[in-house]
Amino acid sequence: MQQKADLTEASSIIRSGGLVAFPTETVYGLGADALNPKASKRIYEAKGRPSDNPLIVHIARLSDLEAITAGISDKALLLAERFWPGPLTMIFQKNDTVPLETTGGLDTVAVRMPNHPVALALIAESTGYIAAPSANMSGRPSPTQAFHVKEDMEGRIPMILDGGPVGIGIESTIVDFTEDIPMILRPGYITKAQLEEVIGEIRMDPGLSGGERGGRPKAPGMKYRHYAPRAEMILVKGRQETVIVRINELVQEAASEGKKAGIIATDETCRCYPAGIVKSVGTRVHEETVAKHLYGILREFDALNVDIIYSESFSEEGIGQALMNRMLKAAGHHVLEV
Ligand code: AMP
Ligand code: MG
Repeated sequence: MQQKADLTEASSIIRSGGLVAFPTETVYGLGADALNPKASKRIYEAKGRPSDNPLIVHIARLSDLEAITAGISDKALLLAERFWPGPLTMIFQKNDTVPLETTGGLDTVAVRMPNHPVALALIAESTGYIAAPSANMSGRPSPTQAFHVKEDMEGRIPMILDGGPVGIGIESTIVDFTEDIPMILRPGYITKAQLEEVIGEIRMDPGLSGGERGGRPKAPGMKYRHYAPRAEMILVKGRQETVIVRINELVQEAASEGKKAGIIATDETCRCYPAGIVKSVGTRVHEETVAKHLYGILREFDALNVDIIYSESFSEEGIGQALMNRMLKAAGHHVLEV
């Protein structure tokens, strides 16, 4: 548990307009006072984030939601009661309290209540509203441990709160309530089926499917290359046995060209690759384990200076939808069907 003195220092930095990285249950966030335009601007500078990519505002109490929005629907309240604190972000019309610097110029605001004691304490002890994207340099894999934040942000921000490894490992599900029918703008840990169980029909943003040809996603951040390792990454899709054979061939080819290859395998398959640097990302029996380790493994391959990463794929069911969304972006939509 975080030292009380650290929290006091962190909240005073936030109150005076500075930046603090802190743990949440999804990934580490880079926080600033969401209602202070200068503080929000510092987030964009520290991350090298495009200024049209809005920030999620984190709150610690449901009663703080109303003060920053222009109205909350009953369905949104139902989801808040069911899933907050937790990995669900909801988008509302904003009011004048929220500066445009925080929303990337949009008249809507994304809000989430994280399920992490350090995050909740920090929010409550500072200003009640902390804008926080993931605490990585823009485009890099999101940090799931404090040392990942350090890799990207050391010297750029005054403080990192270390809460150990995060529990979930991929970002929140984003649901847009400014549409007639609520729309998922980013798949996450909470699945479409879980949301529909509470409020009925929800649509997926049609702009999410497919790379270049799939249209424009509504969440500005979803259009950028993201979560990406430095190496080229290729997702290999197909029947498990065929995928293993093909990846082994590709690793041989890479080796003959003098390239260092990494393989993202699973507990079930990691013994099937005799060459290359093999890492298991988790077990297919519990895909939550894959979510938890994915970004860390991409960073490990960076540290090993591999030239190319071949990765197994997952079916886009349940949490697999969020997993494949992140893996496709990490691979720049480079998929090999076998
Ligand atoms: P990050 O916190 O860096 O993981 O990313 C936050 C995501 O939320 C990005 O994809 C943003 O584009 C998206 N987002 C935040 N606010 C809004 C908003 N008002 N409308 C649409 N998307 C948003
Ligand atoms: Mg991010």
